[in-house]
Amino acid sequence: MNLPRVSDLPLIADVAIDLPGRDSYTYRVPETLAGTLKPGDCVGVPFGPRRLRGFVITIERREPPTGFTIRDIVSHQPEVRLPPHLLRLIAWGARYYRCSLGEFLAGAVPAPVREGAAPERLVLVAKVTSFSGTLSKRQQAVWNALPDAPTLLSEACRVAATTRATLDKLAEAGAVTITDDQQVREIRLEARQERHAHTDEQQVAIDTVAQALDAGRSQPFLLHGVTGSGKTLVYLDLAARVIAAGKQVLLLLPEIALTPQLAARVRNRFERVAVLHSGFTDGERADQWRKVAAGQIDLVVGTRSALFAPFPRPGLIIVDEEHEQSYKQESVPRYHARDLAIVYAGQLGIPVLLGSATPSLESVHNARQGRYRVLSLKNRPLGGKLPAPILIDMREECHAQKRTATICRELLTRLKQVKENGEQAIVLLNRRGWSPVVSCQSCGHTLSCTSCDISLTYHRGAEKVKCHYCGTEGPMPRKCPACSQPTLSTFGLGTEQLATQLAAEVPGLSVLRVDADTVAERQGHAKLFQAFSSGAADCLVGTQMVAKGLDFPRVTLVGIVAADRGLSLPDFRAAERTFQLVAQVAGRAGRGERPGTVVVQAFDTEAPALRCAVDHMPKTFVDAELKLREQYGYPPYAGLIRFLWSGESAANVQLVALKHGELLTRVADGCVILGPNPAAVAFLKDQHRWHALIKAGSRGTAQAFLDRVDAAGGLKKEKGVHVAIDVDPYQTS
Ligand code: ADP
Ligand code: ZN
Repeated sequence: MNLPRVSDLPLIADVAIDLPGRDSYTYRVPETLAGTLKPGDCVGVPFGPRRLRGFVITIERREPPTGFTIRDIVSHQPEVRLPPHLLRLIAWGARYYRCSLGEFLAGAVPAPVREGAAPERLVLVAKVTSFSGTLSKRQQAVWNALPDAPTLLSEACRVAATTRATLDKLAEAGAVTITDDQQVREIRLEARQERHAHTDEQQVAIDTVAQALDAGRSQPFLLHGVTGSGKTLVYLDLAARVIAAGKQVLLLLPEIALTPQLAARVRNRFERVAVLHSGFTDGERADQWRKVAAGQIDLVVGTRSALFAPFPRPGLIIVDEEHEQSYKQESVPRYHARDLAIVYAGQLGIPVLLGSATPSLESVHNARQGRYRVLSLKNRPLGGKLPAPILIDMREECHAQKRTATICRELLTRLKQVKENGEQAIVLLNRRGWSPVVSCQSCGHTLSCTSCDISLTYHRGAEKVKCHYCGTEGPMPRKCPACSQPTLSTFGLGTEQLATQLAAEVPGLSVLRVDADTVAERQGHAKLFQAFSSGAADCLVGTQMVAKGLDFPRVTLVGIVAADRGLSLPDFRAAERTFQLVAQVAGRAGRGERPGTVVVQAFDTEAPALRCAVDHMPKTFVDAELKLREQYGYPPYAGLIRFLWSGESAANVQLVALKHGELLTRVADGCVILGPNPAAVAFLKDQHRWHALIKAGSRGTAQAFLDRVDAAGGLKKEKGVHVAIDVDPYQTS
């Protein structure tokens, strides 16, 4: 038999499509595309009666597959091509996090890019900071709200809560300039560049990472520095080196909206920067992506998905606040951006820098095992001592006040002082609304969501009850829906009530509330924080949003109400989170010249997570907590996998979970299988939920377990029941 010559064979491509299951599907490449199509390209393909988009994974001349009629690739977006190193990372991620390649690609490449949104020219708004003309009151407010550094039009509109039309008016008045992207380099930034002499600690950190950079060595570093110790300066100076060497830098943050100061510092320092945030239009997003791919951007700042910025030559990855849970994506692909950053840096042969004042136990463990190198910043360059927090036992407080007290006298006294001294305070309570529970004093019935196993929260301003899980809301009932008596009462404290109480207890105290509710009403955190920063209020009351990397020099008092609340959650990381929250918030006080005070309220004042955070004893906490994790077989001493079954029929969900559970048990081979059983939140958004947790000796053995599940035929799809596989889960309820 004569074998055909390779050049006579058709050109065949494997294309990854955003569907669960298979990694790729086979298509023929039309000869018109033969010379141009490459792996990583975005193409349009027919799929049944539909037309879908996908990415070319491989392309070669080979015998067409038999058994089905191969179809042609029908379109090609020449401007969207993933670099090979990114494709390799995504392939690794799809395998590790157990989704299809196409699903992972869909999570890594923004939809407007995949769908070929027409690029929109980026328009920048620059504030003329020397402007001294007159504006209307409304215009002036917009102008005040604009950031100093040139900002994308869409971002400027978002931050200043305004429209293009208003900005055009401001431009006519000479208060701002509106330019297109080409001219950006001509916009002279004000000379606000940071040119500090490094502290010795900073110098050591920079030199150590620089050595790895110069040697082209892949190495993870853990930059452990207290808040205000100058980590950001280390990031920026290292970034400058990488950029000077013609490579690109990735700076990941847990939250962009909550860190406007950092974004501004980056922009002031570097020219070719992209700050990726959710406020972009589709066209802007598409344009940014293409610029990054074309090597026109030196540094990308963004949240977890920015890890997939298509840089041609990444030189350094920085993960700020590496302990933050928002690096974990809670929908497919369920990756952890910090963990993937480590893998990516290894594949690329470049250093990766994880920064935190309160590193995750995983990272501390890795450092102790010698896998990460620790760089410490123990001192604040501007001086400013870490405040010694005051821990208040609310059991004693209630006793002394002879009532169920919610705010301690210490905090009130100090708030009065803050007010008198013209300083500012932040008070944190990690629960929004007025009261988290509404129940009937006659029959004991508690209002709960009809779609979830969750009690409804009372919001007084809106006079509504809301489910914080699914968003369902309704008017606050006048009578108990169970017994019809008008005896509904609210229990517990949320930020709305706390803000009201503080304003009532401290004469003249003006309070600004920052939580998901006020952020939605007032269009953005940035505006609220800017208002607080410019002195619009004495006291900021908020949920954990206020704990993030903010820097208010006038804040001298921080209060944490119900600091032990998180400890009772069914989550093996509960203690770690509580410790980090208290330690981080405590770091917000005393960042300026004036010393700070921190008042921590709790009922369980003996909890090690609180004690150690308050006494600045991170090592004691970490040692004790790691010991517990080891003893009970949790990360970092174990690899976890969570299976979650959900569906409308409770009976079906249970049936499928138990059936799948049998298979899981069959292939357990030394792994511990907890469940399947009903999830802690057993009913959510009209879905009944069962789950199982697999504890393996390591991440490697957890992967081997999943391979055995696949080898045993996998978990068969059953109608009406969805199964989610979560590798290294963070949510376990
Ligand atoms: P972190 O990121 O660790 O919270 P920052 O980088 O924000 O800390 O630094 C805190 C403050 O100290 C900033 O105002 C910064 O400009 C200043 N700073 C940092 N390094 C130095 C230095 N070497 N000399 C003087 N000031 C510094
Ligand atoms: Zn609900």
